[in-house]
Amino acid sequence: MEIEIATIGGYEEVGRQMTAVRAGDDVVIFDMGLNLSKVLIHDDVETERMHSLDLIDMGAIPDDRVMSDLEGDVKAIVPTHGHLDHIGAVSKLAHRYNAPIIATPFTIELVKQMIQSEDKFGVDNDLVKLDAGDSTKIGSGLELEFVNVTHSIIDAINPVLHTPEGAIVYGLDKRMDHTPVLGDPIDMKRFREIGREGVLCYIEDCTNANKKGRTPSENVAREHLRDVMYSLEDYDGGIVATTFSSHIARVTSIVEFAEDIGRQPVLLGRSMEKYSGTAERLNFAEFPADLGMYGHRKSVDRTFTRIMNEGKEDFLPVVTGHQGEPRAMLTRMARGETPYELESGDKVIFSARVIPEPTNEGQRYQAETLLRMQGARIYDEVHVSGHLNQEGHYEMLKALQPQHIIPAHQDLAGVSGYVNLARNEGYTPGRDLHISHNGNMIQLVD
Ligand SMILES: [Zn+2]
Repeated sequence: MEIEIATIGGYEEVGRQMTAVRAGDDVVIFDMGLNLSKVLIHDDVETERMHSLDLIDMGAIPDDRVMSDLEGDVKAIVPTHGHLDHIGAVSKLAHRYNAPIIATPFTIELVKQMIQSEDKFGVDNDLVKLDAGDSTKIGSGLELEFVNVTHSIIDAINPVLHTPEGAIVYGLDKRMDHTPVLGDPIDMKRFREIGREGVLCYIEDCTNANKKGRTPSENVAREHLRDVMYSLEDYDGGIVATTFSSHIARVTSIVEFAEDIGRQPVLLGRSMEKYSGTAERLNFAEFPADLGMYGHRKSVDRTFTRIMNEGKEDFLPVVTGHQGEPRAMLTRMARGETPYELESGDKVIFSARVIPEPTNEGQRYQAETLLRMQGARIYDEVHVSGHLNQEGHYEMLKALQPQHIIPAHQDLAGVSGYVNLARNEGYTPGRDLHISHNGNMIQLVD
């Protein structure tokens, strides 16, 4: 059976991930992501109303026009998890394919919400839920399996396409967590079994491939948070926390420790409400029954007013804005645009790392400076990454023993660390280690 892989997006950047695998006459697409930084750099761009081709020209979504060079029918679109760089282009591209979207329940729900807020295209692909650990038949003689992985969002999987030529393992995104705060540990046992059955190709998430050692478990971030928050138990002023709103495990830890130190947590900001509300509704997370989640500007400001009236020392707002995004809640608070008044000595906990990109770094610097000007004290990087470091990559290669490797989810500089470690394991660029670019085709079996 002929096997061909199209590396469509996310092979020259972190963002707008998209890869297609053709096995015989059947094609499966993995991820359709958005590169948000290409959108945010323009003022007031509303992607909901934009046409796909304009977004492709901006470099915001994958240029899927190369799909016409793949001689087969698309049988499934498979987003791996709910991060925007993996699902953010579904509402712009999926309608061009007569194929169902297959994903885990939490991811499907996020895809559904995105399709509903799309103004330009009517996306009516079937939405099919498949749980981690389950499989489904695809096309003629293929099987799609979801292997449970751990990442900075719940219900993440690595899809595996079983073909007569061996398995294609799509490894975006994960870290190796044996003690996650929410959900099951990564299923290394299954990866090792798949390795013994025979892996034709492994497509790997190289986000942290230049980082030595091992990515710590989410449990480490949780203990770090506990240490920081418990140390503030006697502080009688304002404490504000911010983190990735899609990082449900982290949000649950912050909420829990806020209550432990005698404060009422409250989630503020549109995306805070969206992700935590969805996770609670689908029973992925349990929050206190009286936990407030407010997204709309008016209800947020009303909550801030109540906090100021009743006393800041009794509350702990969990807000958006960990990257210093100009329109996010924390930045508005820093600019004094909300009823919440920061005072000298108030604590701001960033349970996040700045995404190392000039725009983010600049915006975060600005937000932090504004916070400091009001006397706020900063707790930074109470966080662990959601991506494998080098030792995790070595472990995955040992488990899977793939014939071919395609590094992804980085630019060339970011991929370099992975190329070095794969060479150490006996792979050779140009032979079985394929350094690709957007819009490229790799023929693995003729
Ligand atoms: Zn991700």
